[in-house]
Parts: sequence; structure tokens; C-alpha cells
Amino acid sequence: MLKIVTLIIFLNISISVGLNASSNNQPCIYGVTDCGSNAQCVFIDLTKSECMALPGSIPSIRFPLKSKHKFFCDQGNLSPPENSHIYKNTAFAIDLVSDRKHPPAKIVSVSQGTVIAYSKCTKHNDQCGDGFGNSVKVLANDGFLYFYAHLEKIFVKTGSVVSEGQIIGIEGNTGLTGENHRHLHFSVHYNWRDIGFQNLENNIGQLPPSVPFFIRELKKDSRQISCKRTSGKTEWLNWF
Ligand SMILES: [Zn+2]
Repeated sequence: MLKIVTLIIFLNISISVGLNASSNNQPCIYGVTDCGSNAQCVFIDLTKSECMALPGSIPSIRFPLKSKHKFFCDQGNLSPPENSHIYKNTAFAIDLVSDRKHPPAKIVSVSQGTVIAYSKCTKHNDQCGDGFGNSVKVLANDGFLYFYAHLEKIFVKTGSVVSEGQIIGIEGNTGLTGENHRHLHFSVHYNWRDIGFQNLENNIGQLPPSVPFFIRELKKDSRQISCKRTSGKTEWLNWF
């Protein structure tokens, strides 16, 4: 059964939470096993799930869409097992959907960093870009990587340095999005240096592990969002 869970967007929270990274990699049962305060059970592939270590601090970021209109969160983090936010590289992703009565939303970089951009996809809802479609990875100096997928258009190039707040693309439905389901798949990852710039550039779907994050929202009335498809079982739900 799906539960609708209200996720709180924290206002101007800019703290590091004292979680210690661990790397236990123990087998676990997704949605059932408690991996402790510094790890989370995620799928490694279709047949295997393991406790994945989380980083020692959680980034606090701005909201990644720029739109005057409403949006909603279609899929939240650690979604039910039949969904896509369950794997090591997607577990803490969110799918943000702008109001379809209006043009697609602009996408803003939540961080300064160096870009890896992939913009070869033209069709909608196909395997292009390893299913992520047109995508932007922003690699920050502190080791976090910010990932934006399914874009219609991209305004930055590989090697460009972007600043926080810079518009980097337009929401779309390239890659595996579902029919007529334009949205932004957004996630935060750590540590990109373990894979390296070149490997991340050459293997477009490759990403370091997905990690939780806070969003500091500017508008008071949009501090709360509900994600439709979210597992209600873990404490990580209120980390947005
Ligand atoms: Zn997604």
C-alpha cells in the first residue's frame, strides 16, 4: 500500500549532522532491516540489497527548480520496491513535476561546481543516456555531486564551471520517464572523487552512492511538499 507522506523542507537550515560514515556492506532486506544510524539498506542490483554507508555530513541546498507555478513531488526517497528510487545510486532521489498547464520549469544549479553534461537525447521516454536522458552532473569541491536528469534542454557544457543559482537547463522527459511524464529527477551523491571525473564523463549512468540532503526553501508557503511514492518506513523521510 502506498502512503502519502509529508516531507518537510527545512527553512534556512545549514547544519552538518554528526553521522559517522561506515562501510559495513552487510546483506539486508530493503524496507525492513535497520542498518543503524549511519547506513541505509538499498538494492545493489535486482537480486541483492546491502547496508550502504552514508556520509558524515548532509548538504543543505536550495530548491533545484525555478518556476512561478506549482510543482509536486511524484516519487520520493526510498520508494516502495517496485519503483526506481531504491538502488544505491537512486535511493535518495526525488522526482519533481511542474504544473503541466505551464511551460516546463527552469532548472537551477544548487551548487558551484564543474559540469559533466550529456545532451544527445531527442526522443521522449526511451533508454537514451542510460535511461536518465539528457543529464547534468555538477561536481563540487567538497566531494558532493548534484545530478539532474531527463532534461529537455541543457545550457551548460562538460568542463564548464557553474555557480549556485545558475540556470542549467529545462525540465523534460528524455530517458525513461513514463509517457508524458516530464519531471526533474534530482539527487545528491558522495564522493565523486572515488570514481573520478573521467569515468563519470565516459559512463554517463555511473554515479557514486545517493545520499540524503536538506532543501532550504526561500518561500515560506512552499516549505512542505508531499511525495506520492515514498516508503513510510524509515527515519530518512523527514530529511528533505
Ligand atoms: Zn527519479
